[in-house]
Amino acid sequence: MFNKNSPTRTNRTNRTNRNVQQIQQKHCYFCVNSINDIDYKNIELLRRFLSSYYKILPRRKRGTCAKHQRRLADAIKRARFMALVPFIKQ
Ligand SMILES: [Zn+2]
Repeated sequence: MFNKNSPTRTNRTNRTNRNVQQIQQKHCYFCVNSINDIDYKNIELLRRFLSSYYKILPRRKRGTCAKHQRRLADAIKRARFMALVPFIKQ
């Protein structure tokens, strides 16, 4: 009677919502606040760009530009080596 695979009205609205989210422009946090050198000792700042499993979030999630994403990754890796940020969730 009811086919699960057929696109329903709710499915269509979900798809349009997802497209709207993709179009929304994200701004690089470091460009906006004109931070050029990312300090590896600033854990609160680095924590924003880590997932709940302490993985580095991709650019598409946080909207960081390529230059700052590279510097951020270096800072996070340095902080991990200095045992300021854990490598994995315990
Ligand atoms: Zn930037």
